[in-house]
This record gives sequence, C-alpha cells and structure tokens, in this order.
Amino acid sequence: MNRVVVVGGGISGLSTAFNIQEKARDKGIDVDITLIEASEKLGGKVQTMREKGYTIEVGANGFLDNKPSTLKLVDALGINDLLQPSNDVARKRFIYSDGKLKQLPESPIAFLKSDLLSLKGKMRVAMEIFTKPKPEGEEETIAEFARRHMGQEAVNKLIAPMVSGVFGGDAEKLSMESCFPLLLEVEKEGNGSLIRGMIKRMKQAKKTGIKMKATAGPGGRLTSFKGGIQTLIDTLAEKIEGDIIKGKRVEKISRIDDKKPKYIAELEGNDALEADIIITATPAYTTSKMIKELDPEISQKLLEIPYVPISVVALGYNRKELNHPLDGFGFLVARNEKRKIIGCLWTSSIFPGRAPEGKYLFRIMIGGAMQPELALLSKDQLINIAKGELMEIMGIDAEPIFAKVFRHEKGIPQYTLGHKKRLEIIEKRLNKHPGLFMTGNAFRGVGINYCTADAYLTSQKVVGYLS
Ligand SMILES: Cc1cc2nc3c(=O)[nH]c(=O)nc-3n(C[C@H](O)[C@H](O)[C@H](O)COP(=O)(O)OP(=O)(O)OC[C@H]3O[C@@H](n4cnc5c(N)ncnc54)[C@H](O)[C@@H]3O)c2cc1C
Repeated sequence: MNRVVVVGGGISGLSTAFNIQEKARDKGIDVDITLIEASEKLGGKVQTMREKGYTIEVGANGFLDNKPSTLKLVDALGINDLLQPSNDVARKRFIYSDGKLKQLPESPIAFLKSDLLSLKGKMRVAMEIFTKPKPEGEEETIAEFARRHMGQEAVNKLIAPMVSGVFGGDAEKLSMESCFPLLLEVEKEGNGSLIRGMIKRMKQAKKTGIKMKATAGPGGRLTSFKGGIQTLIDTLAEKIEGDIIKGKRVEKISRIDDKKPKYIAELEGNDALEADIIITATPAYTTSKMIKELDPEISQKLLEIPYVPISVVALGYNRKELNHPLDGFGFLVARNEKRKIIGCLWTSSIFPGRAPEGKYLFRIMIGGAMQPELALLSKDQLINIAKGELMEIMGIDAEPIFAKVFRHEKGIPQYTLGHKKRLEIIEKRLNKHPGLFMTGNAFRGVGINYCTADAYLTSQKVVGYLS
C-alpha cells in the first residue's frame, strides 16, 4: 500500500487527492490517501456562506467555462446538473472611468463607438497592428507589454483594472510571461502584433476546424453551482475515500532515506504521519516554513512569492430601493480614479437566487496590490467604504439591510518579475526529493481553472512515480 499525504484542503489539495484516487484505481495501484487541512473548514479560498437567505461567496465567485480542467472535474464528480452558468446580462461589463460608469465594448465596432478611450487612445490601440517584434531581452511587466502594444490610456482604462480584478495585482509589477503566457504566443505568431496574431489564428481555425484561443484575457462565461461554488468542495470531500483530517496544521516535512525516500508530516500537537508521497497544496509562505530544514533553497524561493491582501464586502439591499437597472456583471475601477474599491460585482444579476425574493446582493472588492492598507481596515470601516463608494459611483443612497465582510490577509499570490525563474529553480530542486510534489495557486495560475489543471498534472506525476 502506498501512503499518500496531501497537505491543504483548498481546491488544489482536494482535486489532487481525488485525481490520484481515480487514476490509481484505473491503473490498479493501491493508495492510502490522507488529506490534512489546518482549518476546521475545507475549501480555502473557495467557500460559500449561507445566511438570512443570502448565498455569499467568501472568496472565488466561480470559474470560467473557456478552459476544460474544472468542467472535466465537474464531469468526473457527476455534478453537471448542479452547474449554474452566469446570466446572459452578465456579458455587459463596466469600467468606472473619468468619473462615470462606461460599458466595456464587446466588439471592434462597439470599441470605435465607445467613449471609454479618447479618440487619440483609440487610434493608438488601432496602431497595434504595426507593432514590431520586441528584441529578445528583459522580461516585461503586463503594463510594459500593454503600453508597447496599445499605449498608456489603454493600460489605465482597460488593462490595469482587469489585472486588479483578476489578480488583485499591480500591472506595473506582474510578469507578462507568468500571467498571460498565451498572449506572448499570439504576439509571436503575429510577428510582434496581437491583432495580426489573432487574425492568423482565426484563419487557421477556419481552415482546420480546430479552434485556437484567439484571446488570452479572462474571456469565457463565469460559472458556478446552484448552491454556490462550495458545491465543488463538498462533492470532492464526499468522493475522496481516504481520511480527511481537519483542524490540524502541518508544521514540518522531513525526509527519511530508505531504498526510496519516505517523508514525515509533523502535525501540530506532536502527531506525525509517515508517507511515501507528500503533496503540498498550501500557500507558498506556509510551504516555505514546512520545508525550511528539508530544502532551504526551495524554502527561500517560495518566500519570494509575495501575497496581497484583499477584502470582500457583501451588501444586501431592498431591490426596489435601488434606482439602477443593474443590467450587467458589475464594474472595475480604472487606474488613477482615486476611488477606494477595486470593483463591484452585481451578484444578483450574475447569479439570480443569491438573495432572498425582492432583495439584491452586491460584492465589493477592496485592497489588492494598489491599496493593500485598505483591505486590512476594520469590518465596520470596510462596510462604510463599500456603502460610500456605491453611493458615489452608482448613486445608491439606500441603506443596506445586510452586510458581511471577508478579509483575506494573504489573499492572492503575485507572479512578479522573475516568477518563472523561481519556479524553474523550485522544480529543479524538487527532482532531488523523489516523492515530494507541490501544487497550488502560488505556481502556475491563480484561477480555479489553473488550480484544477495543475492538480490534474500533479496527480499524473504522482501516479507515474508510483507505477
Ligand atoms: C477574494 C478572492 C476572489 C477570487 N475570485 C476568484 C474567482 O472568481 N474565480 C477564480 O477562478 N479564482 C478566484 N480567486 C482565486 C482562487 O480562489 C484561488 O486561487 C484558489 O481557490 C486557491 O486554491 P488553493 O487550493 O491553491 O489554495 P487555498 O484556497 O489557499 O487553500 C490552501 C489550503 O491550505 C490550508 N493550509 C495552510 N497552511 C496549512 C498547513 N500548515 N497545514 C495544513 N493545511 C494548511 C489552508 O487552510 C487552505 O485551506 C479568488 C481569490 C480571492 C482571494
């Protein structure tokens, strides 16, 4: 029997454990899986709270349906019928810019007609088609890349808000190659230009019938479950046949060298588990502590992955007191607008049924890399900021009838310049510890889709190692 320990019960740890179980069964390999989660609740950043008839997401809202990994997992778990795609109206997104909400154009014609960018800004974007290939050299930030292609105005009004919305990040600091590797491929195919690259991809798709992703922005349709995103976590926990230990922190991982290395997971309270395989699916700073003695170099590289705080404020209102059509997904705030929020999701428009009859639920994000200090304010202060900003931005002067705050002090890992190199060093060093694997959102993507994709690959490596 091969003893497998998975550390961390977020979406990464749970889906890794489930995939190992399924793959090992297919190959006739015996595995005894134990998953250890520090908190009393599974899910990590994927948790849903139900209170007073509201269904509120603590962290992630859902996943996009334009990548296969989570949908495949949903299929393997047999919960397709519980999926809840976002409402059609949620295709409409807004940017708060120049003191008002402006619709994000969905097509080139709409872009030309839109007042989101000035005429000069639009012309600069159109000039993208003439972008020359960048000489090989230094790694670029997302903002540097976008500036080179589309100019500063597009960075401020399109790119920076999107980066804040997806990564809670600062476009001037995050690495283009680690955050949007696909766009670099499109750029290469277009000999320097994204527009040329996309046209080429569309032509190829027409010829071959094989669809290649033409854009590498978020795209896709936000998807969740009727009972909230935690359905995914609850089902995974149900289907994992091994032990799930909750409320115990793994403090240290050490190694015993036998014919094949074995590992010991030391838990708080002097408990320990021996394993043939350990997979960490914990935040980088936690994993760093666990393996400090086992491998100081990996530990150091993990510590170099910064995290930003982000807080979520959920506000409920009487719908009839909201003098606003609320016909969209919500909005993100452009750079330089001097507002105190990253953006706001019009949750009840995206996923009907998340508030009691006649009520409406908003979700406001505060903090991130641009204003980390705000995320750490008290709950009352955060509610006041959210309320005040909705009033100034959307004209909502009603009083909320429900409020809830979720603070994520180390909310989202940031793939800053040098991230790829850090990963290469970590991966090289991990080869020296056969049987030790690492997954989670600190490495190859923060979205749920990336976590489930990495969990799948990790489980493949684990089962490959066992066979
Ligand atoms: C506010 C917010 C909104 C988001 N929105 C979206 C969204 O809409 N769509 C999307 O795709 N992504 C979204 N994300 C990102 C996504 O939710 C996360 O990247 C993903 O859930 C991370 O999963 P994980 O399992 O890798 O890590 P985590 O969820 O952080 O799980 C790690 C687990 O390890 C446990 N742990 C830590 N230390 C130990 C230890 N020593 N021993 C044992 N266990 C330990 C933790 O308690 C935790 O449960 C959002 C993130 C945040 C913060």
